[in-house]
Amino acid sequence: MTATNLFPTGEVDSATAEQVRPFRVYTQRDLDRITAVRHLPAEQRFAMKVVSTALPFRVNDYVIERLIDWSRVPDDPIFQLTFPQAEMLSPAHYAEIARLLRREADKAEIDAAVARIRHELNPHPAGQRELNIPRLPNGDLVTGIQHKYRETVLFFPSQGQTCHAYCSFCFRWAQFIGDKELRMATNEAQGLHAYLRQQRCVTDLLVTGGDPMVMRTRHMEAYLEPLLHRDFDHVQTIRIGTKALTFWPYRFVSDADSDALLSLLERLVAAGKHVAVMAHFNHWRELDTEVCERAVERIRATGAQIRTQGPLLAHINDEPDDWARMWRTQVRLGIVPYYMFVERDTGAHHYFKVPLVRAWEIYREAAQQVSGLARTARGPSMSAGPGKVEITGVADVAGETVFALRFLQARNPDWANRPFFAKFDPQATWLDELKPAFGEQEFFFEEEYRERWTGLLH
Ligand SMILES: *Cc1c(COP(=O)(O)O)cnc(C)c1O
Repeated sequence: MTATNLFPTGEVDSATAEQVRPFRVYTQRDLDRITAVRHLPAEQRFAMKVVSTALPFRVNDYVIERLIDWSRVPDDPIFQLTFPQAEMLSPAHYAEIARLLRREADKAEIDAAVARIRHELNPHPAGQRELNIPRLPNGDLVTGIQHKYRETVLFFPSQGQTCHAYCSFCFRWAQFIGDKELRMATNEAQGLHAYLRQQRCVTDLLVTGGDPMVMRTRHMEAYLEPLLHRDFDHVQTIRIGTKALTFWPYRFVSDADSDALLSLLERLVAAGKHVAVMAHFNHWRELDTEVCERAVERIRATGAQIRTQGPLLAHINDEPDDWARMWRTQVRLGIVPYYMFVERDTGAHHYFKVPLVRAWEIYREAAQQVSGLARTARGPSMSAGPGKVEITGVADVAGETVFALRFLQARNPDWANRPFFAKFDPQATWLDELKPAFGEQEFFFEEEYRERWTGLLH
């Protein structure tokens, strides 16, 4: 085995043999070393190699052994969520890389083709890099921070810019391909703290990545513990975005610093902060292991809340019953469903995309099956340049079929929660494909968005 053991694990008294597990990770180079993969047809293995040459791939033993049902491959949702599939690249891109690999082209030639292909896959959707990076009063850019919505600052700690495994649909995939320039991260807690100190209307800090839960607890402490000073009383909520409950629940159970992590959460809660673990889930199967349930229990025992979000994806979770079952399971475990997203227009979008009308139907049919406590997930929501746009529904109004829409979050807070309408389009999969209804020239926010923000795009 050459798989690297990046995160050595320790033992805690309560851990059972199942709960203590070395973290063994596999990337593209190790595909042939995964026993279950070796049993797949040669053609499928080659396709995986081709796709993972262009798109990031990383998986670990827990995902392979506990989450994927190999008897249902390739349709298994967790297999689709983590392993590359031929159709994730366009036929032209696929053919180009396949040709290079078949004739064993040299590395420089492959790298050049891959760089061009990645560039064509819209690596930075919604102007993420250009539009949201704030400045200090002296004009310095605060790297590693995005501040798009008034109340909430996003922080990308440099130690948290990878994940325990990668999602095949990840909208932040460009961060994982090793191009340092593309990474949104900072080494410095100072910039974060200086910025938060002066931004008095910020109530929420959202630590994100990658996955901040890949960080050692002592790094997390360095970022978060200072927020207990009264200079940061206005920051009442600390959210931590993570997929560790899916990809590595041992992070909260039996890693060497699991107990230290939970004790940090406990201290933040005791000091009066609202701590929310923003867990990324796509399918109820991710919650269906003993160690995941144990991790949920341990997090909740600290007084932290767990809220969940995730995109709706063809091949993975485009069935209302799967969403209903996932939300019900979450509520039973004491978790609050929070957002259902529409998959963004980046990377393998063409493979995962679901028409907006279908997304709304799935949301509605799922919500109709569950009690009110499981209907707290809002959506389906598009995180677009101007804001988070919810597809409220399809309706016939004054003889026209329209989408009713609203901003759940907006660059200008005043845009939020105003209904607006787009012409019905059964094929549309993203906001930029929608046209205003009722003969309007543009949507109510477009002129202001253009004038105040898109001038900054380059
Ligand atoms: C979703 C999001 C937030 C958080 O919005 P809430 O509605 O408060 O959950 C903050 N910043 C960005 C850039 C986001 O996309």
